[in-house]
Amino acid sequence: DAAPTDAGQDAALQILSTVFGYDSFRGEQAEIIAQVAGGGDAVVLMPTGGGKSLCYQIPALLRHGTGIVVSPLIALMSDQVAALEAVGIRAAFLNSTLERHEAQAVEQQLLAGEIDLLYMAPERLVLPRTIDLLQRAQLSLVAIDEAHCVSQWGHDFRPDYMGLSVLADAFPDVPRIALTATATEATHRELTERLRMEDAKHFVSSFDRPNIQYRIEPKASPREQLLKLITAEHEGESGIVYCLSRKSVETTAAWLSERGIPALPYHAGLDARVRQDHQERFLRAEGLIIVATIAFGMGIDKPDVRFVAHLDLPKSIEGYYQETGRAGRDGQPSTAWMAYGLGDMVSQRKFIDSGEGNEGFKRNARSHLDAMLALCETVSCRRVQLLRYFGQDSEACGNCDICLSPPQTWDATVPAQKLLSALIRLDRERGQKFGSGQIIEVLLGRENDRSRQSRHEELSVWGIGAELSEKEWRSVMRQLMARGIVDAEGDYGVLVPGSQAGPVLRSEAAVELAVDRSPAKATRARPS
Ligand code: ADP
Ligand code: ZN
Repeated sequence: DAAPTDAGQDAALQILSTVFGYDSFRGEQAEIIAQVAGGGDAVVLMPTGGGKSLCYQIPALLRHGTGIVVSPLIALMSDQVAALEAVGIRAAFLNSTLERHEAQAVEQQLLAGEIDLLYMAPERLVLPRTIDLLQRAQLSLVAIDEAHCVSQWGHDFRPDYMGLSVLADAFPDVPRIALTATATEATHRELTERLRMEDAKHFVSSFDRPNIQYRIEPKASPREQLLKLITAEHEGESGIVYCLSRKSVETTAAWLSERGIPALPYHAGLDARVRQDHQERFLRAEGLIIVATIAFGMGIDKPDVRFVAHLDLPKSIEGYYQETGRAGRDGQPSTAWMAYGLGDMVSQRKFIDSGEGNEGFKRNARSHLDAMLALCETVSCRRVQLLRYFGQDSEACGNCDICLSPPQTWDATVPAQKLLSALIRLDRERGQKFGSGQIIEVLLGRENDRSRQSRHEELSVWGIGAELSEKEWRSVMRQLMARGIVDAEGDYGVLVPGSQAGPVLRSEAAVELAVDRSPAKATRARPS
């Protein structure tokens, strides 16, 4: 272990101010820098915007030789290098976008000791040829960015990261620092093991982003809801809107523009030049909205993003946290808003079930989705839930939609039993399973072609749910699904009783559900 010396701290502060222009360290930056500059290993869990980059950039400048930065984000490397060069740091990258002679020139500079920081993708680093090259160079440290990518059960696994375990043997005397913004305790343990960082010191920052107000509301007419959010609270401010599909990215951006809200689309299907142009305009301009698939945002550092809106459900809490974390990096009040509905849940389950991957992979994807759904359907503080997911205990925040207007709850045991009975009767007596739409028709006793063909009106469950409206039934189904009382299965997302259905059917468990808040009542109390 390296005890931080005063001299070392002075040198680090000196670089912080003369090179980067900041006058004090944030959070645990100073301790992390002392650990790595002193030759020790570090595992760093810090939220997006927390200031991870300086944790390896400054030690690399304090030590002799070149700091290697492993990053999966090839597209960002040239920007990162340009930003470092702009403050006088000798930086370079080696990746597949370079011509052969360009790569050779970088290698020569490396061996000549003329590079402070060298960025590289993992697949390149682990090549025997690269390891050999690096062994002939003087290395100051190896930084492994986005280190959660080594976790097989995480949300962002990249097989190439597995190979990084060779670093421990290949460079036993070079300090290593692994960094990530998304780590549950399980991921933390797994990355420590896989990267063979048993001797590292661990730095776990608080994941709370107190200036972000978390809000999740039922999806009714999502674009109108989004428009209302923008006009009522964020007129003329910068924001990011996430959609699942490229098509909805395009149509939503166009729809907003038609209503006088400047918005640009961003997704992987757009021409690289258009994408670059939209990204740059978003970074430079004020009050511009970018509508994007999750392809957008990795490494984007715009401090004054005032809101992040999700029109579709993210696949995991890790993803949600990372995406919403792009709001309010400057510490000013910001909104993380999402609209989600029954359709989101069903389509994501369907997507997992009919997608690629083995059973273990699917089980893992399902449990990620379930945790996300539980956050959506919680009737207690969202921040408490979110932080608990990351292994952190906290008090109700007073600044999320639930804290600001606690949902009313009602006893939905009987409706839940009626719904389950309907699913069971249809299956047993007609051999039929349906999606939510047709089930609601049966519960309400509304005839259509399908019900007439199958003589649904003869079933004992026909019309037994007429006391609730269609909208209320959708809310019930959504919440029951999030609790595992109802499940959606197969390619068509048909509803079936879930793993938690038994006790409800036997009246052993009561079902307490929230009354959906009406989107129109969404309130905002800015923390003063
Ligand atoms: P992360 O990688 O954790 O998301 P970055 O390293 O990109 O975060 O830092 C986020 C922002 O905070 C950057 O604009 C960075 O320059 C700034 N920053 C980092 N450390 C400090 C500091 N000690 N003082 C002021 N600004 C800082
Ligand atoms: Zn709260």
